[in-house]
Amino acid sequence: RQAEYAKLRDVEPFTRDGERIEVMMNAGLRDDVAMLSLTGADGIGLYRTEFQFLVSAALPQRDRQTRLYRDVLDAAGDKKVIFRTVDIGGDKSLPYLSSEKSREDENPAMGWRALRLALEREGLMKVQARALLEGAAGRELNVMFPMVSEPWEFDAAKEVFEGQLAFLKKRKHKLPSAIRYGVMLEVPSLAETLDLLLPKISFISIGTNDLTQFLFAADRANPSLAERYDWLSPAILRFLQRVVRNCAGSGVELGVCGEMGGRRMEALALIGLGIRRLSITPASIGQIKELVRQVDTKDIGEAMKGWMAQPPQDMRAALSAWAEE
Ligand code: PEP
Ligand code: MG
Repeated sequence: RQAEYAKLRDVEPFTRDGERIEVMMNAGLRDDVAMLSLTGADGIGLYRTEFQFLVSAALPQRDRQTRLYRDVLDAAGDKKVIFRTVDIGGDKSLPYLSSEKSREDENPAMGWRALRLALEREGLMKVQARALLEGAAGRELNVMFPMVSEPWEFDAAKEVFEGQLAFLKKRKHKLPSAIRYGVMLEVPSLAETLDLLLPKISFISIGTNDLTQFLFAADRANPSLAERYDWLSPAILRFLQRVVRNCAGSGVELGVCGEMGGRRMEALALIGLGIRRLSITPASIGQIKELVRQVDTKDIGEAMKGWMAQPPQDMRAALSAWAEE
């Protein structure tokens, strides 16, 4: 199979009815970027910048951050890279960032983490903003904020970036050619106020790992719960269907970057719901490209519409049977 997937490396993922599906990859280390050319992925839909923090003994200095971001963009060439600002705190806690607040976290996944932490540790956020702006000098910068729960958090995060941008402009530094802002949709509350946010952003990436744990109130790290809820359950699929509908016509790019998109039946369901961008683990790129080329989006779209109105007992079985046919 791997050899067959390798043949797909340079083949663009068009569906049978000619829809282009963007198949991007998730990354977190400088060396991951090499997988772009090995897999033929369309770009990096999620670059987890916290990896650099997690492997460092102390807070990475600004010049080290800048160098990493520049290297990643150099290595990616013409392909798009979406940098996610740090998602640390909670379970990914760092000794050099611990505080009263992190010690108070009884439920770290829903605790003082990601943007919640970054907005209060403004120094950290400013340094990262500066490093991203400088690392992307002369190029497009795509920046995405994690765990946005209400629109004001996006405004506050963007303001930090705009402040740093103004500073660099005044000093006549070379700036990015464009800055595009986006959010992760992984806290369900954001879906309820999406209309307020859409005019302000360029893209959304749905993080189905966290979204699933928050929708079901089921810890994603607890092995006793791992098998309990399915990504193909009507609750998740209907939630995603509503997000797709609410974004339609807004001009905001919508993708999925959780692990869900790297599995065949799940990817099929997502395409059926209208998702046209998947960012997945590099090891899954081949099989998802192969799947895309076998799909007709109108057919699967119709089938999904029926299943969402009247969910079958076993969605996975229904999708598999449909795919067989
Ligand atoms: C997610 O939550 O789905 C996601 C992609 O981000 P992470 O797995 O890094 O939390
Ligand atoms: Mg997440």
